[in-house]
Amino acid sequence: MTHKVTANISAASLAAENQALRERMADLLQQAEQNHAIMCRHQAFDLEIVGSATFPELVGTIFRTLPVISELDSVTLSLLDEDADILLVMEKLGVDFADFPNLLFVREEAALGFAPTRSAHALPPKPLLGPFERGVHGKLFPEIKGGLRSVALVPLLRNKRVIGSLNLGSVDASRFTAQLGTDFIEHMASIIAICLENVISNEMLKYIGLTDSLTGVYNRRYIDRRLLEEIARARRQDYRISFMYIDIDHFKRVNDSVGHQGGDEVLREVAVRIKDELRRSDALARFGGEEFVVLLIDADLDSAAIVAERIRASIADALFHLPAGVKVNASVSIGVASLGDYDHDCSIEAVAQQLIAHADSALYQAKERGRNQVVSYR
Ligand code: GH3
Ligand code: MG
Ligand code: MG
Repeated sequence: MTHKVTANISAASLAAENQALRERMADLLQQAEQNHAIMCRHQAFDLEIVGSATFPELVGTIFRTLPVISELDSVTLSLLDEDADILLVMEKLGVDFADFPNLLFVREEAALGFAPTRSAHALPPKPLLGPFERGVHGKLFPEIKGGLRSVALVPLLRNKRVIGSLNLGSVDASRFTAQLGTDFIEHMASIIAICLENVISNEMLKYIGLTDSLTGVYNRRYIDRRLLEEIARARRQDYRISFMYIDIDHFKRVNDSVGHQGGDEVLREVAVRIKDELRRSDALARFGGEEFVVLLIDADLDSAAIVAERIRASIADALFHLPAGVKVNASVSIGVASLGDYDHDCSIEAVAQQLIAHADSALYQAKERGRNQVVSYR
């Protein structure tokens, strides 16, 4: 009798132990599956960001995907942009920063909050993990007004140089603590840093290939390409585009009076004055020498002629102040043409050539009629 009870008890405890082990096993399996799933999501993320061809594509993917796969409440990026050239180039390439409220630019490394790395032997900075402090971290998470409890600021490093910071925020106070290992987030940040550096230098190259080094406006290659895109779009969506051909009058004389460098200054200032009269959607390019062209989107011949007249006046009506106190006046002649009800059987290339030719012929007439004037091609 006693034997039977003992046997029953030990059988019961064995069964309980067995059950506990099975549960533990199931937990471990579930944990392993979860880890595997996280790893797969991160691998897919890595592949996606490595494949990003442009800056907006890359930062868009980071902001869209990283909070989801890492279960974070806010992800932001601070980029070190000492001379503001990243900002300038991206703007020129048409990046709309309103699309990326979590993209921040800082002008100096100190603003990132890491230990400075100016000395060549200094170790690169480590991630900063800890509680969210509004005074210190508030600006890094502009979209989240409250609620974050812990943050990780992870330096983005290239060749031991800090290029920015990946800022991770969580509403969970225990998510980022000073004790937490940082291997994983450092690895993630290093891939993001490589991708950022890559797309930024690609975009810079693209920018250099599409802009004029003297004036900073677009070059002919850009306009030739953009014109084809815009004609195709204008055909589909049925709006007007117009084209201006602008040539500085007697520019040889300007060069003769103020020298070639002075002439270059005048070219720069002419570009600025033209640009000031245009809308954001219009495109200004230097076609070569002392010739500029403007592509106006959603503008018919009459409204383009009004803009052209404003440009003409802005150049003729105010002297050009060159360095060393030299003053010189200049004027431009402008030919304007508009894409009319053209033949839909024509190729887009032929339509583009025709539009440029019409503006050029109007310009020729403006020169013939005495310069410093606008002629529209009708
Ligand atoms: P027009 O009123 O008929 O246009 O007379 P123009 O003197 O402007 O015409 P032309 O096309 O004969 O001369 C253009 C001059 O522009 C000649 C050239 O020396 C000058 N030029 C071209 N490119 C540059 C440049 O990059 N910098 C400077 N400073 N001058 C340039
Ligand atoms: Mg010329
Ligand atoms: Mg000229």
